[in-house]
Amino acid sequence: MTERTRDARGSVKRHDARPRIRRIPTPVRDDSRMATQAAELVFDEATKLYEGRGEAAVDRLSLTVPAGEICVLVGPSGGGKTTALKLVNRLIALTSGDIRIDGTSIMEHDLTELRRGIGYVIQQVGLFPHMTVGANIGTVPRLLGWPKQRIALRTEELLELVGLEPDDAKRYPAELSGGQRQRVGLARALAANPPLMLMDEPFGAIDPIVRMRLQDEFMRLQRELRKTVVFVTHDIDEAIKIGDRIAILREGGRLAQYDTPAAILERPADDFVAQFVGEDRALKALALRRLSELDLRPVAEADGAPRIRDDSTLRDALARLVAEKSDYLLVVRADGTPAGAVAREDLLR
Ligand code: ADP
Ligand code: MG
Repeated sequence: MTERTRDARGSVKRHDARPRIRRIPTPVRDDSRMATQAAELVFDEATKLYEGRGEAAVDRLSLTVPAGEICVLVGPSGGGKTTALKLVNRLIALTSGDIRIDGTSIMEHDLTELRRGIGYVIQQVGLFPHMTVGANIGTVPRLLGWPKQRIALRTEELLELVGLEPDDAKRYPAELSGGQRQRVGLARALAANPPLMLMDEPFGAIDPIVRMRLQDEFMRLQRELRKTVVFVTHDIDEAIKIGDRIAILREGGRLAQYDTPAAILERPADDFVAQFVGEDRALKALALRRLSELDLRPVAEADGAPRIRDDSTLRDALARLVAEKSDYLLVVRADGTPAGAVAREDLLR
């Protein structure tokens, strides 16, 4: 406060030469949850060759992630997923090629500024064990010099956003379950509202049931936040579930296919992709579509047939047909009114 004094009315006076900007009380929810801030991310022949290794870890990777979309990097262990992610925030230096965020090369960014604009979530979370949950979440805002009250409000808001209790702010990481720690990691990465999020197997160490819930909540969050997200996993089902697009990497960090989940399941580029997505890919493709998207038959064709909600997936419908040993289902809307009929052959086309 050496440069400032208070006048008689108690407002702060600046003694520097900058134009005086009237101080507005800190807005409570200024740049936070409703902001639709996102950046386009472009990998342009991005290549990483670790020293002393004959083969590239990431080999001329080119792909564009449109602003506000989730791109899932998936592939076998050692396929270069983590390396590709760390190239973006320059934890690993590019050997050749370029990566651009909203058109600007990452090499042109000041390193600190670059990393502040990128939220980073990893599997072991990397929470500071000697700091409370609240202090962990406030890490970046503190570095940015936010006033205490604003940090406290933001922390409270983030805890709610990721499904934790306000009281959890006072706890230490060791007192939390794996799933809770992962939520804290996500909250911390979101704290300064970065336009780009990098997530490296964030739910990899979580048991299947909690993991499914975290996936669902992450997807709900993303519908609200609309960040650009690069999400790494080795689990193709997780990729299909959460990705707007999926990039499949093969050994040596070469891109095998970059497409929507439906396109990858319906038209795998080669045998490697077909094998990676699994022999049940036709069933997985059915799980991506809902009965409400079909041209249904007249209601009369399903006379006496079992009923199914129109928000069910085609896969659920097929399972139902098999279980009921039926050829038809009556499709009903949420309010119970019939929407039409679906036949087994409609699903198998
Ligand atoms: P993924 O995350 O898909 O499992 P990684 O990006 O971790 O793959 O690794 C890709 C390849 O690069 C692997 O062959 C791995 O052994 C190698 N690698 C990863 N990190 C280093 C490093 N720091 N030094 C040398 N080689 C590395
Ligand atoms: Mg990895």
